[in-house]
Amino acid sequence: MMKLAVDERYVQEIVKKVMTSMSLNERPTGSRGVFKDMNEAVEAAYEAQKQVRIMTLDQREKIISIMRDKIRDNAEALAKMGVSETKMGNVGDKILKHRLVADKTPGTEDITTTAWSGDRGLTLVEMGPFGVIGAITPTTNPSETVVCNTIGMFAAGNTVVFNPHPKAIQTSIYAINLMNEASVEGGGPDNIAVTVEKPTLETSEVMMKHPLIPLLCATGGPGVVTAVLSSGKRAIGAGAGNPPAFVDETADIEKAARDIVNGCTFDNNLPCIAEKEIVAVDAICDELMDHMIRQNGCYLADKSVQDKLVSTVLTPKGALNRDCVGKDAKTLLSMVGVEVDAGIRCIVFEGKKEHPLITEELMMPILGVVRVKDFAEGVETAKWLEHGNRHSAHIHSKNVDHITQYARELDTAILVKNGPSYAALGFGGEGFPTFTIASRTGEGLTSAATFTKRRRCVMSDSLCIR
Ligand code: NAD
Repeated sequence: MMKLAVDERYVQEIVKKVMTSMSLNERPTGSRGVFKDMNEAVEAAYEAQKQVRIMTLDQREKIISIMRDKIRDNAEALAKMGVSETKMGNVGDKILKHRLVADKTPGTEDITTTAWSGDRGLTLVEMGPFGVIGAITPTTNPSETVVCNTIGMFAAGNTVVFNPHPKAIQTSIYAINLMNEASVEGGGPDNIAVTVEKPTLETSEVMMKHPLIPLLCATGGPGVVTAVLSSGKRAIGAGAGNPPAFVDETADIEKAARDIVNGCTFDNNLPCIAEKEIVAVDAICDELMDHMIRQNGCYLADKSVQDKLVSTVLTPKGALNRDCVGKDAKTLLSMVGVEVDAGIRCIVFEGKKEHPLITEELMMPILGVVRVKDFAEGVETAKWLEHGNRHSAHIHSKNVDHITQYARELDTAILVKNGPSYAALGFGGEGFPTFTIASRTGEGLTSAATFTKRRRCVMSDSLCIR
């Protein structure tokens, strides 16, 4: 009996040791994608890609399906970890985002072939992998972006080196671990997605300049997109937005109010596609605000609260106070001395387009409403507010000519008509999701096909059997 008790303790000790070595911070470097040194990380991803590129599409798809299962199983853990580490967003919406990515991110079916056949033979254009892709990811959707990028890049036959935002590194590492576990369980190599324990601007520089990396993909604000576009390499740039939601006199105003508040408050306004301000024609502006306040949990901020919010959420130089990004409306209001109940979801006020809470991309549930006299002034105002990002814009209207003109003038990668902004990601809208919207470089919503290069294979004078 005595001996058995000792053995049990011994077994428990071993289990504890294994669990500790499996825990995030204690994993040995090089295991499941995490390295101390960026050069080592890139080389490991390069070695893994040698195996990935000779895998059958079936093998890749098997691994992707394990990735999807792991993300579904860990959606809550990833959501909680993301909120706790970044201090942004909310767990409920982040769970939905992870499930969406797991369920609907396109896999190998996205890789298609174009063919011409005729008297002179058969020509195919195949979409081949680039090799190792260098990816930079944001704080706002950290693990969502890591998972979405990995599925798409891997489906296309690549491996990926991440330089995540330092403030979201543990969450990103957890997601990278899961991606590699899925690969190994599915018979693939470790290190299909890699990173470093401590990402910095220096590790980013090493990654961007590394000769084994032919393609870069940056998801974040203007600085990082400019950095990858200045690298001398091919780069996909998914940059900042400041999406206006335009409401004209033909819209279903009650629905517009509901859709806009739902879109704006999703994950506390962190998504780059989320409604950041409203442009409303005079004829319906009061009615719209009334619906927002009476039926959709909006708090109407007077001038003094607006002023306090300006000096709280922005620094004296006009930069974002990062402590306020991704916070909910109740918390933001309490930071300026206003206590409200939990039913308050959003802060609204009417202001000029130049108002700092309207013109800045805040990533907080604060919706300034700009009143315009008619459709023409509304289009010009929305265009001004989008700042030429050509990222996302939304419209609520039943006038097809208005919708068409707005879409042409705004010229954005995403335009949602008569719905909440998240319909663009496949929540209540058709189409696949992504958390890397290549607004600046024009690929739009990225998927596996975005991470391929076109390769022409020609058989001259044969194989046409028509
Ligand atoms: P951020 O720009 O502060 O950081 C994004 C990433 O870029 C981080 O990993 C950061 O470390 C890195 N970075 C920043 N400057 C860099 C530089 N000069 N060189 C190399 N790396 C650099 O953004 P954030 O606050 O984490 O995310 C929010 C911003 O990202 C918003 O502007 C939002 O609109 C945008 N965003 C865009 C998309 C999209 O798909 N277009 C998706 C999510 C977020």
